[in-house]
Amino acid sequence: MQKEAEFTRISATADIKVQRHGARAKCLQRLIRLEMPVPDTIALPFDTVRRLAAGDRIDSGALLQTFDGAPLLSVRPSAEVTDWGGPGTILNIGLTVDRVEALAEIIGEHAADELFLRFILSYAVEVARLDAEAFADDATAQAALATYECETDEAFPNDPATQLSDVLRSMARAWEGTSARLLRQAKGAPADAGLGLLVQRMVIGAGRGECGFGMIQFVDSQTGAPGITGHYVSNGQSRAALSEDGEVLFLQRDPQGPSLEDRCPDQFAALCALGARTRTSLREEMQIEFKLQDGALCILDAMRAPRSSRAQVRIAVDLAQDAVITKDEALLRIHPSALSELLHPQVAPDHKRSMIAHGIAASPGGATGRIVFSAAAAQALAAQGGDCILVRHETSSEDVRGMNAARGVLTERGGITSHAAVIARGLGVPCVVGAASELQIKPREKLLRTRSGQTFREGDVITLDGTAGVVLEGAARLVEPGQDEAFLTLMVWAEAVTDIGIRANADTPADAKTASRFNAGGIGLCRTEHMFFEHDRLTVMREMIFADSAEDRQAALDRLLPMQRADFLELFRTMKGLPVCIRLLDPPLHEFLPQGRAGVRELADAMDLPLSEVSARVKGLAEFNPMLGMRGVRLGITIPEIYDMQARAIFEATAQAARQGIVTAPEIMIPLVSAKREVELVKARIAAAAAQVRVQTGVEFDYELGVIVETPRAALRAGEIADHVAFLSFGTNDLTQMVYGLSRDDAGRFMSTYVQQGVYLEDPFLRMDTEGVGELLILGAERGRAARSDLILSICGEHGGNADSIAFCRKAGFNYVSCSPFRVPEARLAAAQLAISDRRSARRTSSSDEAKNVP
Ligand code: PEP
Ligand code: MG
Repeated sequence: MQKEAEFTRISATADIKVQRHGARAKCLQRLIRLEMPVPDTIALPFDTVRRLAAGDRIDSGALLQTFDGAPLLSVRPSAEVTDWGGPGTILNIGLTVDRVEALAEIIGEHAADELFLRFILSYAVEVARLDAEAFADDATAQAALATYECETDEAFPNDPATQLSDVLRSMARAWEGTSARLLRQAKGAPADAGLGLLVQRMVIGAGRGECGFGMIQFVDSQTGAPGITGHYVSNGQSRAALSEDGEVLFLQRDPQGPSLEDRCPDQFAALCALGARTRTSLREEMQIEFKLQDGALCILDAMRAPRSSRAQVRIAVDLAQDAVITKDEALLRIHPSALSELLHPQVAPDHKRSMIAHGIAASPGGATGRIVFSAAAAQALAAQGGDCILVRHETSSEDVRGMNAARGVLTERGGITSHAAVIARGLGVPCVVGAASELQIKPREKLLRTRSGQTFREGDVITLDGTAGVVLEGAARLVEPGQDEAFLTLMVWAEAVTDIGIRANADTPADAKTASRFNAGGIGLCRTEHMFFEHDRLTVMREMIFADSAEDRQAALDRLLPMQRADFLELFRTMKGLPVCIRLLDPPLHEFLPQGRAGVRELADAMDLPLSEVSARVKGLAEFNPMLGMRGVRLGITIPEIYDMQARAIFEATAQAARQGIVTAPEIMIPLVSAKREVELVKARIAAAAAQVRVQTGVEFDYELGVIVETPRAALRAGEIADHVAFLSFGTNDLTQMVYGLSRDDAGRFMSTYVQQGVYLEDPFLRMDTEGVGELLILGAERGRAARSDLILSICGEHGGNADSIAFCRKAGFNYVSCSPFRVPEARLAAAQLAISDRRSARRTSSSDEAKNVP
């Protein structure tokens, strides 16, 4: 194999590769190809830099001699991906006592001394690893040289080759340092990521004609809107120029002060022209680093303009609309998770964070408010127009209204599919759960204590960052969400290429409105129990649960019927004929039981029963393991009147909608099935309810029956279940719980230890376990489709919005995924990217097949 060159001069034709020399080297080559005035640059490939880090030396004298006229040099890092970082650039290498004198002849004594001083300081800190503080009082190069000698017992190297060699070695070593490695790995770099180094002829940027350093970009980094931003420092030399002595100028003409445009109109126009050329040729919005040397323009570097998530979308859409890139490329350029930042306010990235605890990032977004420890306090504060963060051990049905009133929710216990997490995501409220190892809540004392011993009381202000899963002290600056034109356009493009349905999990009319705002293809899961969490309904629901005679139960159900009917009608109206999949009552009844004495007393009042009797009934209904107890279809079989009422409400709403011109065929889903007989029993009663409503209303309507596959047995027996239903939707929350034998409400306690120790690669409630749970999905899908080829398959657990589970479901031939309404855009973009990538690889395969057939 041919030995790789130790270094290569970057020219239009040189063999420069991103994977060998880094992105910055490749970008400079592209700029050279565009005939931009880039200073002479030598690229050291990853291999050379690795050898330097290991202690080898390169012939820096020979390297120096490749530059004409022994110029001063800079060394810049060039990682494969710019975001992976790298050591800071070092400027003015080659300055020695003799050369400073020569330089003073050209640029003046003061400027030459300044440059030397800065070089000595950066060399001392970056190469000799001295403390910057030691040089704090040094105002001249002479003083800094003395300090250097005193600190190191050696004279400052007065030889350009030694300086260059030491700089290269120290930058190579800095890349191998532990914190640099961890930092880049956190940004997705592989463990063996390489670093290239660029040795570039310095443009002094200081002198008698107009000299200076500037950065310019042609979009706003926050919004992505076109507009010139950046700065120019006359007599400045580097990015740090703003903090130096130079005169800071606006780039564009500005009434508030002098500008580059005024002072150097030709150079400014040339920069704008270069910006336009980089945009079309590099197909990206770039930030350009430039210098003026006696009025001549030099381009030192260009990199992808930094951008917020919102700007990222705007830039990609604008580039596609200007035909610089295709729509497919625009879709591929945006990471799906970046969209969630556009839907929720976020803690400003530059906000100085004082973290008090971290937990599980259960629902994205940032929220600031006063601590409250009860749902009632949250509602009371919200009623006065106050912002609050509801802090609970965990949440239950009684907290839902308080959660709705709060800006954010923090719980001590729970995991990614706990009650608090699921409800918060549905409501779009930022939420952090499972913070027990870092904080303790004492609701009675209205006190929150952190592991470090800090205490917070009701009324104290905290901030939740639900995107990162952290709790911050005090108020934080929030960045408002930005669903602008560009976002909407991107969503339309995504929808056009997506080949798997994206529905929303929407429980209430308000959720359905959100789902419809994000163009969900329908509702994939309406958890009807969430319709009962309104206070007046909760009491009736409890009366129904506690009824000890058939008449009392029916009386309560008769009161619930019109409420449910009105909700369903509203859902049908909002979704305008799109599919709506309604799940019959599912949760363990304990979720409806009153918590604490006050709740029991309230119920006793409502039912006009003695407190002791209601207490006894609450106790009587308690289960050892409610998640595996009287819930789901087991309720429907033992108390069939509940499902009868729900079926009737659904059908009556269907008939009413039809009269209003909205034709809908509701999908009714049976929860927690594990045996086909359960389906047979419920199916017969639902058919009877449909027949009755058709007769009573005189309206013909269709409906579909399906099962949410949440138990391993339902997946295994999907074949015989599919004989009775039109669809199966995999409820991967419960399925994960049951496949692992892992409580979704308690796993938060040990999940981080499990993930840290590599027992699980990731929390399986967050990221679908494609091996175990996934195998059951495939098995269930195959067995179901073998029994009924037109069986509709979907997933409606929290995994529904994740890119990797969408990829899994697409591959397995599922019809749609369903996720919380706020995740619909993210899911749609992920699905679009999968479709585009598949199409591209199919095209590649067919063109290589064609090539093979060429005679
Ligand atoms: C599930 O179990 O995946 C599901 C969607 O139902 P829930 O989260 O309501 O239990
Ligand atoms: Mg479930």
